[in-house]
Amino acid sequence: MKYLLTILLFGLLACSNLHAKEQSVSSQGFTISWSKQDSFKIRKGELVISQNSLFLVVKPGWKKQWFWHKKFPVIVTTGDNFIEVKTDKANPTAFKMASYKVEIINKTTVRISVKGKLTEDVKAFVQHVPFNFPATLLDNATIELNNRPTVTVGEKKLNNFTATPNFSIKTPNLEFQVKIKTSQKFAINDRRVKPFQGGLGLLMINTNTPVTLNSDYNESIELVINSVKSTRPTTRKADTKNYIYPDSTLAIAQIKKNYTTPRNRMAKFSWQDYENLLKELAKDRYMVLPIRDYVNAKAPDKVLVGMRHDIDFHPFKAEKMAELEQKYKLRSTFYILHSANYYGRYYPKKIRRNTAMNDLYKKLNDQGFEIGIHNDTISLMLKYDIEPLKFIHEEIAYYNKIGIQVNGVASHGAAYVLQMGLNNTYMFSEFGKGKTIERNGKKYQYGQYSLKEFGFDYSAYRTNNNRYFSDVGGKWRANGKKMTMSEVLKVLKKLKPGTRVQILTHPVWWGK
Ligand SMILES: [Zn+2]
Repeated sequence: MKYLLTILLFGLLACSNLHAKEQSVSSQGFTISWSKQDSFKIRKGELVISQNSLFLVVKPGWKKQWFWHKKFPVIVTTGDNFIEVKTDKANPTAFKMASYKVEIINKTTVRISVKGKLTEDVKAFVQHVPFNFPATLLDNATIELNNRPTVTVGEKKLNNFTATPNFSIKTPNLEFQVKIKTSQKFAINDRRVKPFQGGLGLLMINTNTPVTLNSDYNESIELVINSVKSTRPTTRKADTKNYIYPDSTLAIAQIKKNYTTPRNRMAKFSWQDYENLLKELAKDRYMVLPIRDYVNAKAPDKVLVGMRHDIDFHPFKAEKMAELEQKYKLRSTFYILHSANYYGRYYPKKIRRNTAMNDLYKKLNDQGFEIGIHNDTISLMLKYDIEPLKFIHEEIAYYNKIGIQVNGVASHGAAYVLQMGLNNTYMFSEFGKGKTIERNGKKYQYGQYSLKEFGFDYSAYRTNNNRYFSDVGGKWRANGKKMTMSEVLKVLKKLKPGTRVQILTHPVWWGK
C-alpha cells in the first residue's frame, strides 16, 4: 500500500493589533497531498474549500467576528497549480489584502504569497501557518532543527519556541525534511489538546511578519519538502507483524485521571446493592466460580454460579467490585477490553499498551480472579487494520509473559460493530462461518477460525447456563426478562440445586 501523507497546509493570514482595534484577514483549509515520489497536488475537490473555510474579519474594532467570504467580496481564481484570493476595494479592514496565493512551484516546493497594505496606524503582523501536523502523525517523533537540540514529541506539551527555518521530523513510520524559506523566524506551537490521548490537536509551525504602515507588504514563504520517506517496511508478512507495543509510559495516576472519571451519573446501582447480591451468593447453597472453572464444573447439590464482569471502560470500578467480592470470599472473571482507552492507544496496525495497567491485572489474577479477553476484534480490524488472529495470539502471549494465564473470551457489544449488523462473537467460526466485510477498499474476513485456533478454551457465551442474569444497559434481565434488583435476589433464592447460572455485571452501572 502506497504511503500517502496528507499535510494540512494552512495558509492563515492574520493581521491584528493588541489595542482596541483588532482585525485580521485569514484563510485556511488548503489541503495539499503529498505522496511518495509524487508532486504536490491541490485536490480538485478542495479548491472549492474557499466556500467553506475562507474567513474574513472585516470591521475594525470588532473582535473575533468572523464572516463567510460571501459577506465580504473576494475573487477566487484557481488554476492547475495555484489558488488565489483577491479582495476588492471595499475591503474595510486596516490591512488591505490585495492578494493571497498558494502556488505549486515544482514537485517539492509550494509558495504562499501575500500582498497588501496596512492603512491604519495599528500594530499588526501577518501570520503564516504553513504546517499543522496532526498529533497522531507525531507520536514518538523527533524534530531536528538546524540550530537547536533535537526535540522529542512525547506525552508532555512542548514549550513553544522559535527557530530558524530548517527542520526534519522523524516518526516511527515516516521521515520528512522541510525547509521554510522566509526571512522570518518561525515558531512551533504545541496545540495538541491532550498529548498522548488519542492524537487530538496539532503541532503548529508558523511565522509572524510585522507589517508597517502604508508600505506595500509583499511577503512570500516557500516550503521545500526535501524528502518524505516511509520508514515502515513496505512488505511484511501478516504473521510476522506485531500489533502490540507494550511501551506506553503513562503512569497509573495519569490513566486514572485521564480515563476513569467515575461517571457515577451512569451508575444505576449502589455498592450496597452489589454487596446485597454478594451476601446472597456467599450463602452455602451456591458455588460461585470464575467462568473458566464454571464451564466444566459439576455441583448437583449447589446452585452453580459463573460470575463475570465485562470491564468495558471502568477498570477502577472493577477493582472496587473485586474488593467487595473478596470480602465475601467470592471469585469471578474480569474481561479486559482491548479497545478501551485505559488499555492503550490506537494507531493503524498498532496498539501501545498502557503497561502501568499490568499491576491491576496482575493483582486481580494473584487474588484468584480470572483475567479474560473482552473481544472487540471486529472494531480493531476495521478501524485499525489489525488482523484478529495474530493480534489475539500476541495478546494471550503478552498476558502469559506477565504471569497471567488467559483461557477465555467474552465478546464486547460495541455500538460500532452492532450498527453494522455484526457482532464480535462472529469472529469465531462457532458463531458464524467465514464472511467478508469491506472497509476502505480492503476486504476483511471474519468467522474463519475457531475459538481454539484463536487460543481460547471457552467463550462466555457458550457455557451451558440454565439461567443468565445480566445488568446490560443498566437494567437487570434474567433470561431476557426485565427485573429489579430485589426481584433478582428473589429469583436467585428460589433456584434449585443443580441449576447453572451465569451472572454478568458491568462496572459502569455500579457505584451510584
Ligand atoms: Zn462490553
